Amino acid sequence: MKYLLTIVLFSVVTLTSTAQDKQPLACKGKTKSGVACKSTIVAKKTGYCNAHDPNRVKCTGKTTAGNPCMMIVQKNSTTCRIHNK
Ligand SMILES: [Zn+2]
Ligand SMILES: [Zn+2]
Repeated sequence: MKYLLTIVLFSVVTLTSTAQDKQPLACKGKTKSGVACKSTIVAKKTGYCNAHDPNRVKCTGKTTAGNPCMMIVQKNSTTCRIHNK
C-alpha cells in the first residue's frame, strides 16, 4: 500500500513539473462562441492548437452526438480512420 502511494505521489510531481516547463502559450484560434481558445497544446509553427490549425484538414464525418468529428484525416482522404468506411 505504501508502495502504491509512492507511485501516485511521484506521478503527480512529474505531471506538475512537466506543466511548468511548458511555455504559457495559448492557441490563437477562437471557439464557435467567439471566445479565445484556451488550449495550451499549441503547435509552435502555427500558434494554433490541433483543432484550430489552419493547415489541418478536418474529418467531414460526425460523431454519434452529431458534432463535427475533430479527428485528423487520413492521407488522400477527407475522413478519419473511424469515418473512412
Ligand atoms: Zn485552439
Ligand atoms: Zn471522423
